[in-house]
Amino acid sequence: MYYYSLNNKNHRVSFEEAVVSGIAPDRGLYFPEKIEKLPASFYNEIDQMSATQIAYMVIEQFIGTSIPKNHLLQILDEVLDFDFPVVPIDESISSLELFHGPTMAFKDVGARFMAKCLEYFNKNNGRKTTVLVATSGDTGGAVANGFFKTDNVEVIILYPQNKVSDVQEKQLTTLGHNITALEVQGTFDDCQEMVKTAFLDEELKSKRNLTSANSINIARWLPQTFYYFIAYKQLKSFNKELVFSVPSGNFGNICAGIVAKKLGLPIRHFVASTNSNDIIPRYLNTGFYSPRPSVETLSNAMDVGNPSNFIRIQHLFKNDDTALKSEFSSYSFNDKETNSAIQELYKTANYIADPHGAVGYLGLKKHGLQPNEIGVFLETAHPIKFRSTVEKELSITLPLPDQIKEIMQKKKNSILIKNYKNLKAFLSK
Ligand SMILES: *Cc1c(COP(=O)(O)O)cnc(C)c1O
Repeated sequence: MYYYSLNNKNHRVSFEEAVVSGIAPDRGLYFPEKIEKLPASFYNEIDQMSATQIAYMVIEQFIGTSIPKNHLLQILDEVLDFDFPVVPIDESISSLELFHGPTMAFKDVGARFMAKCLEYFNKNNGRKTTVLVATSGDTGGAVANGFFKTDNVEVIILYPQNKVSDVQEKQLTTLGHNITALEVQGTFDDCQEMVKTAFLDEELKSKRNLTSANSINIARWLPQTFYYFIAYKQLKSFNKELVFSVPSGNFGNICAGIVAKKLGLPIRHFVASTNSNDIIPRYLNTGFYSPRPSVETLSNAMDVGNPSNFIRIQHLFKNDDTALKSEFSSYSFNDKETNSAIQELYKTANYIADPHGAVGYLGLKKHGLQPNEIGVFLETAHPIKFRSTVEKELSITLPLPDQIKEIMQKKKNSILIKNYKNLKAFLSK
């Protein structure tokens, strides 16, 4: 399988090269040359298949010969070693819980998959890679955990001081080994800007093989298609049409859902639910795409002012907005509405949602469901990751899950930096 740059279809690279470089030299996002429907027999037998078997069928065509079958199966087994349950909320709405992994947010699957691919490629050619990533909270933890002790990969995470939750900070700063956390005296946008500058810095690039581990990288983006198949497996017997609502920031997860549909998965409609960072809902309403600096909200993993994967979604619909709107809607909700949804879910269904899942739930409510439809919102983080919001809103105390309890006792280890000069000095060591 080849991947082309969205800026230039003639620039084609292998899966390996797309993963190793992250982004094309012309700054375009990589995109698979073909997406072929999976056979009917797969959909007929899916309820008898394990998560690993399903994932293999889904990802195989995107990897081609880059990773041998047995090794790919082993990677998938390790990546998918936890559950993804569909939990009913009422007769027509369910929550797809994606937070049962090691860092309790859905990014674990993509981060682990990317780490294992990179490890395999580096082993074969003796290369060393530096993964440089900016985080507003969840990405950093998932990447740190996924890459922990990965051979020949050093991970450097930039996070904004005092702007991530206590749990998130511990997840970033307590691992050690090949993981370094840089605490930036600034905002998430400052972190992101520094990372971008580093990727364009020829002097640095002559010293290190830099790559990024955000959802621009196809090895982080594509495995997210698994969730939709795993949900379908659990819901198939209801014989209803599926509507997915995805809490969206960079729009990588929902874009993977659209790829799942292209692979033949019967999905009626997608709802991209956002917080007050409403670039895409505005675009669909007005036809004008105007990125803006992100604003801080309760659902901080979605505080994105210029969603990087939306261009892939447009490409999947051949840049035809009418076609896009027939299968895809997007709505925005503010913090007040998010808090009310957390309350409502608790009072009516005894369900504790995190702020991101709550935004997803609101999207389904706003979109509305037909009698023959079942709505699924993706619960992308465990409520404990946003415990101050949830505990305050519901006047309860959340028990600490074991993996969090352990990490909260560890000592934070970070290096303070202020600007790009500091980052470059660190990277040039
Ligand atoms: C990253 C993240 C999102 C947003 O996902 P995108 O793929 O960037 O749209 C939503 N919820 C949580 C908890 C996240 O960590």
